[in-house]
Amino acid sequence: MKSKVTIIGGGPTGLMAAYLLSKKNKFSVTLYDRKPTFGRKFLLAGRGGLNITHSECKEKFLEKYGNSAKIFEPILNNFSQKKLMSFCEMLGEKTFIGSSGRVFPKSFKASPLLRSWLLILKNQDVSMKPNHDWVGWEDNKLIFKTGIKRITVDTDITLLALGGLSWPKLGSDGSWIKILRRNNIEVSKIQPANCGFFVKWSNIFKNRFAGFPLKAVELSFKNKKIKGEFIITKDGVEGGIIYSFSSMLRGSINEIGATTITLDLKPDFSIEKIKELLLKPRLKLTITNHLRKTLKLSEVAIGLLMELKNKEGINNDQISNLAYIIKNYKITLDKPFSIDRCISTSGGIKFNSINKDFMLINKPNTYVAGEMLDWEAPTGGYLLQACISNGAFVANNIINKNRHNN
Ligand SMILES: Cc1cc2nc3c(=O)[nH]c(=O)nc-3n(C[C@H](O)[C@H](O)[C@H](O)COP(=O)(O)OP(=O)(O)OC[C@H]3O[C@@H](n4cnc5c(N)ncnc54)[C@H](O)[C@@H]3O)c2cc1C
Repeated sequence: MKSKVTIIGGGPTGLMAAYLLSKKNKFSVTLYDRKPTFGRKFLLAGRGGLNITHSECKEKFLEKYGNSAKIFEPILNNFSQKKLMSFCEMLGEKTFIGSSGRVFPKSFKASPLLRSWLLILKNQDVSMKPNHDWVGWEDNKLIFKTGIKRITVDTDITLLALGGLSWPKLGSDGSWIKILRRNNIEVSKIQPANCGFFVKWSNIFKNRFAGFPLKAVELSFKNKKIKGEFIITKDGVEGGIIYSFSSMLRGSINEIGATTITLDLKPDFSIEKIKELLLKPRLKLTITNHLRKTLKLSEVAIGLLMELKNKEGINNDQISNLAYIIKNYKITLDKPFSIDRCISTSGGIKFNSINKDFMLINKPNTYVAGEMLDWEAPTGGYLLQACISNGAFVANNIINKNRHNN
């Protein structure tokens, strides 16, 4: 008799585990999801180009997982970035490495990958059960709600791959937290990660610039500096380099409240050069046109400077002050955007609740994987790689542990 494996959660983590566990036809695999279709967040990630992984060396790659780097080492050794790229190719989508080292499928989409992934699962006899909402255990049996029915499922092995809490309408809303805590499984506080932050813009600025990118700036916070771009929104800032700082910024806001970042609006020019250019005769040009002509500052960057005009009295004659502000523009971030709007979440099932195979210590034969665990990583392909590799790692552990039973 084949062992029965129940996978709950049809995101990239659960899909990878289902693929490996069903590959050699040694297990009877069923994949449940509460939504009518699988992989909804994966599809959404595809709308932004689907940055599936990053091509940098393993050491640099692992650094991105911060305190959890050691945990991800065996996971990546088992299913590396190269293996993920080959897997995409096997699904019919070649990948390519962009100029930043980020890896994307050629179509920049998730839908072709997902379509072929689900087809393979079907061909490998995975039983697919959408519209099944897992609500807990009863005498070690799994309980699902489907429509108005409540069903119990007997299983030998369970994998929970229920995701983090961002974009809850796509399926992962953290309803699992209460269920696990009731079963004495420790879950740390869930917080927004790779998120934007609220800024009190003036009405004039937000009406004019919401949705605009602020390009080619350098953001510094504490001892970290990154050049790049981000988006101005009506409520604040998001995307790009803001995400790279979001974990640090969130930490600082948790500690001290509103936190200030510093922007260099002209990182390729020294302050002396800026002063020199600003001292050129303005003739009849307004200060904004002078900034545009002499420094080639973007409309948004000039808009930011004009935000200060009333507050700090940018005086046309105070060139050295203006040059200093261009190199050290301060923005105060009040708090992170809500979890609903972020790319991912930090926090989740604590690693002391699982063994080295990712099996829950309090629930024998129940494994966990993916974003529902207590780790975080920046955008850049680190999230999908971690989830997919984690799904592969757990699947291999289950295969190895049950080698003699099948
Ligand atoms: C807008 C956006 C863009 C992104 N872009 C990228 C990117 O380019 N690169 C990158 O690396 N990462 C990206 N991510 C992050 C990435 O999509 C997630 O980290 C990844 O999908 C998490 O995978 P997962 O399988 O752990 O969870 P999920 O993908 O969230 O899947 C979990 C599944 O579990 C199901 N589920 C939850 N609870 C239950 C329950 N009680 N019963 C039954 N089913 C349940 C859900 O319906 C869901 O289908 C992006 C995220 C967002 C929101």
